[in-house]
This record gives sequence, C-alpha cells and structure tokens, in this order.
Amino acid sequence: MRLVRTRAFFDVLVIGSGASGLAAAVAADRAGARVGIATKTTLQACNSAKAQGGIQAAFGDDDSPEIHAQDVMRSSHDTADPHLVSVLTGEAPRAIHWLEEMGVEFTRSNGGYRLARCGGASRQRLLQVGDRTGHAITKALREAYESSAGAELPHHALVELDHATSGWSASFDTKDGSVEIEAGAIVLAAGGRCFAEAEQRGELSTNHPNATGEVTRIAVETGAQTRDLDALQYHPNGGAWPATMQGYSIPETTRAYGAVLLNVDGEEFTDSLGARDAVSQAIFDEVEKGKGVLTPDGRPAVWLDTTRITPEDAEISLPYMLRRYRAAGIDPLAEPIYTFPVLHYQNGGLVIGEHAETTLEGVFACGEIAGGTHGRNRMMGNSLLECTVFGRRAGRAAAERSKA
Ligand SMILES: Cc1cc2nc3c(=O)[nH]c(=O)nc-3n(C[C@H](O)[C@H](O)[C@H](O)COP(=O)(O)OP(=O)(O)OC[C@H]3O[C@@H](n4cnc5c(N)ncnc54)[C@H](O)[C@@H]3O)c2cc1C
Repeated sequence: MRLVRTRAFFDVLVIGSGASGLAAAVAADRAGARVGIATKTTLQACNSAKAQGGIQAAFGDDDSPEIHAQDVMRSSHDTADPHLVSVLTGEAPRAIHWLEEMGVEFTRSNGGYRLARCGGASRQRLLQVGDRTGHAITKALREAYESSAGAELPHHALVELDHATSGWSASFDTKDGSVEIEAGAIVLAAGGRCFAEAEQRGELSTNHPNATGEVTRIAVETGAQTRDLDALQYHPNGGAWPATMQGYSIPETTRAYGAVLLNVDGEEFTDSLGARDAVSQAIFDEVEKGKGVLTPDGRPAVWLDTTRITPEDAEISLPYMLRRYRAAGIDPLAEPIYTFPVLHYQNGGLVIGEHAETTLEGVFACGEIAGGTHGRNRMMGNSLLECTVFGRRAGRAAAERSKA
C-alpha cells in the first residue's frame, strides 16, 4: 500500500457521517471552526438514513421534558445517566426547531405535529417525517454541511488515533493508501457495531454494513472509558418473511397506530407498546413455549397484526413500509405479517459528559458510539434525538476546545 503523509490540519475533525457526525460538523462550522468530516465509505452510508419511525420531543399539551425523562429512566430500568437524560429531553424541542431550520419538514395534522406514542412512552411524543425520518434528517444536515466551507473526506476509514502537539493525529486507510490528518479536537461519531455482531452470531440485523464498531475499539485502545458496552438491543419487530424483508426493521409506529402482536392461537401475549427489551423478551418466550409460528422457510416468528391500522394512518405514517411489503407480494393492511426480534442497537458506548466530552481530553463522542443517555435499554425515537442534541453539543464544544 502506498503511504500518503498528509499534513492536513483541521480545528475539528469529525469521524462518521451519520446524523450525529453531520450535526456535529454543522455545529462546529457554525461556531467558526475549520471542519473536516471523514467517513468510511460515502457520506450517505450510515444507519441514520435507514431510521424510519421518528424522533421524540415533548410537544404534547399533556407532556413535558420531565415526563419524557421519567419515561427514559423507567425504560432504561434506571441505568441511564439522569443528568445526560435531562439534557437530552430538555433540549429536544429546540433540537426539533434546529432541524426544521435545516429544512426537515415533520408530518403535521390538526395544526400541530402528528405525534405518535412509541414503546415505553407514557405520552404521544414521536414526531415523524412519514416513515423516512432518518433519511429526511440526514439529507437536510448533509445539504447544510455541503453548503458550508467544511471539507469532505469520503472513503477514509479511521485506523488509529494518537496525541499530537496540536491536539490529535488520526490515521486513515483510503483508496490511495494511508493518510494522517491532525486536528485540534476530534469528534467520534462512527456509530455502533450491530452489523458485525450479528454476522458473528449468525443472526439477522437491521444495521448498515458499516456498523462494525472498530472506532470504539480504537478509542478504548487510546485510553477512553466505556459503559454498558455489552448491552445490545434487539428490535422487537424484525421482518421475518418474505425473504426480501428479513432483517428489515418494521417501524415501531405500526404498533403506535394499532398493530398488535399475536401468537399462533391469535392471542395478544404482551403489551405491544411496552419497552423494547420487554417486548422482544416476550416474543422470545412465546416462541420458546411453542406458541410461535414458522415462516415458510422455517424461521421462528409471531404475527404482527397490521390489519388493525387504519388505511389513513398507514398512508400518512407508513407509506414506505406499505410499498416495500406490497412490492414483495404482501399487503399488511389485508393480512398479518411475520415478525421476530433482530439485532438493532448498541445501547452503551464511550463515557461522555454533558458536552459530549469523552474521558480523553480533546476527544468528543456523540450518537450510537456514546453511552449513558439510554442506559442499557434505549427507547425508540431517542437515538435520532441523541444524535441531534449531543451532535450539536459535541461540535460546539470541539470548536471551543480547538481554540484553547
Ligand atoms: C433500520 C433502522 C431504523 C431505525 N429507526 C430509528 C428511529 O425511528 N428513531 C431513532 O431515534 N433511531 C432509529 N434507529 C437508530 C438510529 O438511526 C441510529 O442509532 C443512529 O442514527 C446512529 O447514528 P450515528 O450518527 O451514531 O451513526 P450512523 O448513522 O451509523 O453513522 C456512523 C458513521 O460512521 C462511519 N464509520 C464507521 N466506522 C468508521 C471508520 N472506521 N472510519 C470512518 N468512518 C466510520 C459510517 O460509515 C457512518 O457514516 C434506527 C436504526 C436502524 C438501523
């Protein structure tokens, strides 16, 4: 491999181009920093763009950031960091307005946001952009970054981090060989590891193939502390049949809009709007008891009775899911669909403080690579929120740090 030594220098170097990395890059640029965003393949390739269901923020008349925080703590079984949670939920409405300023148009009804109740939530709090929320958010953030002076470094896979006189030195594998880039501060936004983990376990995953977790390992080898790294989350509703939908994450909004889980006898065996770990475990247990069903290719599953969703709700909030199933020959509004939990999310990660600072000075982390805001069990819709709230905080704090 040809060794390319680049003396490029940025104030802030962001690693990863999902929602959290893009939010950090935009925020750092707006704070006056010279920014570079390096990412393993293309800028578009990430888990964030696959997110469908939505993003939580307390806008309902009967809701508040405090109630949102209570729901997070309860869903995490009190394992989340209460201070990070209060930052997350307290800044949620402002984060939504910031995304709107970037061009995200959330679905509205009756003069306000169309809010759904997601698993573990005590209120209707989930904002949506149809069922392509992550796509809409990443597209808007990417366009905002692309119109800034920031540099784009696609096909730069981080392989090493080192201290440098000016801050940090990052080494990358690129198509043209190894590249080293220095920066005053680094933002790690490289996501989780569920794609790699599922491959190792021989299971299905909802994740993008770039979700392989090596940046967490690099940070740990450099001395960063982690928490709850062993806590991986199953999405209760992976697609189980037809084959083209295996590993697809059936939006949790199907259940928010009335779908329920049924066993082989057509009985509801759990609260379909329970916390994710509880619903996934209930499905595993039902199958274990012999009360599940088998897909035509012999996989374990239960039914998700999507026929209870009204056509109006489905057209507004689940159009992409409907299109995909109908293209595969199944109409979810006319027949129930097969579902089984799939590996989905890394709950824990690098330890961060309220400004997304890791335990390494000058290194920040946001998004799925960071731990604490969800404890050992994340609620749906809080990851895109965490990417936005802590991505912005990381970008601003890194810009500030690079001036020090
Ligand atoms: C199918 C699906 C549906 C989801 N639905 C929702 C939802 O409705 N609501 C919600 O809140 N959350 C949802 N989530 C979770 C949420 O989307 C993700 O957890 C979150 O967007 C992660 O964002 P991120 O920026 O941390 O990482 P990602 O979006 O995964 O981005 C990580 C980036 O880092 C890059 N990278 C990785 N390794 C390296 C390396 N070595 N060097 C350089 N770059 C690297 C990747 O290429 C990528 O660009 C969903 C997730 C999936 C997979």
